[in-house]
Amino acid sequence: VIIGGGFGGLAAAQRLRRVPVEILLIDRTNHHLFQPLLYQVAIAALSPGDIASPLRAIFRSHRNVTILMGEAVAVDRARRAILMENGEPVCFDILILAPGSRHFYFGKDIWERFAPGLKTLTDALEIRERLLISFETAERVHPAEACKYLTFVIVGGGPTGVELAGALAEVARKGMVPDFPTVRAKGFSIILIEAGPRVLPAYPQEQSDKARAWLEKLGVQVHLNEHVTDVTEDSVYAGQTCIPTVNVIWAAGNRASPLLQSLKEPLDRQGRVIVREDLSLQSDPWIFVIGDAAYCPDAEGRGLPALAPVAMQQGRYVASIIRKNLAPHARPAFVYHDRGNLATVGLAKAVGEISGVHFSGFLAWLLWSLVHIFYLIGFRNRFRVMSEWIWYYLTYRPGAQLIYGKPRSER
Ligand SMILES: Cc1cc2nc3c(=O)[nH]c(=O)nc-3n(C[C@H](O)[C@H](O)[C@H](O)COP(=O)(O)OP(=O)(O)OC[C@H]3O[C@@H](n4cnc5c(N)ncnc54)[C@H](O)[C@@H]3O)c2cc1C
Repeated sequence: VIIGGGFGGLAAAQRLRRVPVEILLIDRTNHHLFQPLLYQVAIAALSPGDIASPLRAIFRSHRNVTILMGEAVAVDRARRAILMENGEPVCFDILILAPGSRHFYFGKDIWERFAPGLKTLTDALEIRERLLISFETAERVHPAEACKYLTFVIVGGGPTGVELAGALAEVARKGMVPDFPTVRAKGFSIILIEAGPRVLPAYPQEQSDKARAWLEKLGVQVHLNEHVTDVTEDSVYAGQTCIPTVNVIWAAGNRASPLLQSLKEPLDRQGRVIVREDLSLQSDPWIFVIGDAAYCPDAEGRGLPALAPVAMQQGRYVASIIRKNLAPHARPAFVYHDRGNLATVGLAKAVGEISGVHFSGFLAWLLWSLVHIFYLIGFRNRFRVMSEWIWYYLTYRPGAQLIYGKPRSER
């Protein structure tokens, strides 16, 4: 049984689909989601279908893979079963847990209502609706009131926050504002709040500085060394400063899936399971935890980063243990092959490194685009994303600016 059809779970299932085993892949959604491009759905540049693929379609021709859409709520280790949300048990011989992570509001869960994070398609669509409704609302309200609709605050200066801020600045200015005459006159602002001394803290200092300079050139106000102390319906507080806004996006903290608590295994501070070097539980060699849900130290003893390549490599590694039916003492330790990192800033610039070589600017962005297109699932999605990007560069008209309903908070 594999829980989670994200990067880790999908990689494991794909490696096992020609092996004589029966696989049950359980996910609460019916699709695999390419999270690295989720922010482009949130800013109305891409449509949900461009970056998600139905799991049943991915495994259509593989008879040993069964898909079950449902929420796993606990692992009953005594019965070797997963408990589903309707109370039904699903038994397993071998279990791979790849349920990923959710946003973490540092104990202030009430903030989630006002500051949605970006993890699922629902999150991205919620943010997109808020963004579009805010522009529409700002068109008709008094200028003094419009300010809170035209101020966008992104909390967290990691890759998600930086990519979101840069792309929002470009798309809003070039692709949306021209259609909103009143907004054009009133102007809008994007504020990126980071608690640390620089954006992209995992990148070299020089690349962080570049990213910050590019963001500022795009009109993003970067606030460093500022902690968010409160978020309400129409404001965010950074230290003593109150910023009136109805648009706060949370990109600041992650916590592993609560499902892992039912394993009763040691967890780290982010709720990740501390696994052995073969990614299995300390107390059960046939239950594996991979991806964002696992704490697996690298050669220097630091936890591996929450990245798609880590999850994919771990999924393939566990699949090879299962394929070879390796006893615990015969398993090699998992080793992560770090091929680099790239983060975009705006629509034609990026920073990062690949195989130890640092890149920045247009070349880095080109590499970023190629890598993302390559890893998208299915030719149709690759073609659609590429054509949407080309269309946008030629016309500055993003293709997904539709409002389907009111944001969850207003329903
Ligand atoms: C906005 C954003 C941008 C990112 N950008 C990048 C990037 O540029 N490069 C990069 O390398 N990484 C990036 N990441 C990180 C990367 O996406 C994650 O590290 C990766 O998805 C982890 O894979 P996973 O398999 O552990 O979990 P996920 O891919 O999150 O998959 C978890 C799956 O489990 C399912 N699930 C969860 N709980 C349950 C349950 N109880 N029952 C049933 N199903 C369940 C979920 O529906 C989901 O399908 C980004 C993440 C986000 C959110």
